[in-house]
Amino acid sequence: MLDSSDRMAAHEALPVVRRRSRRISVGSVFVGGDAAISVQSMTNTPSEDIEACVRQIEALAQAGADIVRVSCPSEESTRAFAQIVKRVSLPLVADIHFHHKRALEAARAGAAGLRINPGNIGGASRVREVVKAAKDAGCSIRIGVNAGSLERDLLAKYGEPCPQAMVESALLQSRLLEDCDFDAFKISVKASDVRLAIASYRLLASSCDHPLHLGITEAGGQMAGSVKSAIGLGTLLLEGIGDTLRVSLSADPVEEVRVGFAVLQSLKLRSRGVNIVACPSCSRQRFDVIGVVREAEERLEHIREPITVSIIGCVVNGPGEARSSDVGVAGGGKGTHQIYVGGGKDHRFEGGNDNMGGGKDTGKDKGKNKGKDKSKDTKLVDHIVELVEKRAEALREARKEKEVL
Ligand code: SF4
Repeated sequence: MLDSSDRMAAHEALPVVRRRSRRISVGSVFVGGDAAISVQSMTNTPSEDIEACVRQIEALAQAGADIVRVSCPSEESTRAFAQIVKRVSLPLVADIHFHHKRALEAARAGAAGLRINPGNIGGASRVREVVKAAKDAGCSIRIGVNAGSLERDLLAKYGEPCPQAMVESALLQSRLLEDCDFDAFKISVKASDVRLAIASYRLLASSCDHPLHLGITEAGGQMAGSVKSAIGLGTLLLEGIGDTLRVSLSADPVEEVRVGFAVLQSLKLRSRGVNIVACPSCSRQRFDVIGVVREAEERLEHIREPITVSIIGCVVNGPGEARSSDVGVAGGGKGTHQIYVGGGKDHRFEGGNDNMGGGKDTGKDKGKNKGKDKSKDTKLVDHIVELVEKRAEALREARKEKEVL
């Protein structure tokens, strides 16, 4: 039997030691060094449609994105980019393929960063032109290697995309940039194959000290893409690899930001907003766990402060989870549930329904909510929201006080 001095807290059991990387700036956001791991996404509205782009970028900002990338495929799009940059609150990265002139235009237009793809940007002289434009404008660059668009000579040399080919491509470009006396750049070596991406990033991480932008490219729809990204990015992040990330989903870009934060939050590398710990529910549940969690998630989306809420259907796991939560609920009998605040028992909530699982349907709303999509425990959700908002307010006040001191 171990005594308490031998036991390890969860975060000590698997500490994350971040790889040492240089720090660069993407506009106001630092990437690399000891900067927080930033979350990126990309617009999918036509870049020429200024209003739609601005709306989408602000929605991404609301969801917590730190940096947003915008495609610049045409001269018209870089003209629009110049307008968009002025109207949004986040640093923008211009995504460049094929036409190095778009990179020159985007740098002049106020891009915080340029993403160039070594496989299709053209020869060394074009890259040098792009570097000069970035230097003049004070923006950073991402060398974005992609397994699907490697240089032809590397494909001929290695026969297929492999970690060695990806990293060779990245390092060749790095040298070009360094030869121009430019080191404000980060690198990505993305692949849609999770194992190829992990192996490539590992090799790259051991070959240079530039900050790394993580991503599993073309990961797929929301569910499959989230799983692939969580495995790929999660593995690397646990090894301390990665300074910024993008989850690529064939879905609303806002979902990319949500998943990115969920990955970082799961590994306790960054926290933002409400982290709900909930049981899957079973016949022991004393309230509608799934409905309450769904409604609470929606209604707590506006909270920015890091707050953990446990929503557990019965006393089997309720008290245990509540101990490490800011706000907790454990289902009890007769529509009366135990509420925990700050890890301790605080009060009992009365007025819930007691028509779940082992309990009898004796509440006054008996049978009324059967088959409805909404939780039958809206009063309980109201109560949880109220407690979380109070806690968020207290955290905001504490932060203000700290700033004054
Ligand atoms: S905590 Fe209770 S209600 Fe939730 S899954 Fe476990 S036994 Fe079932």
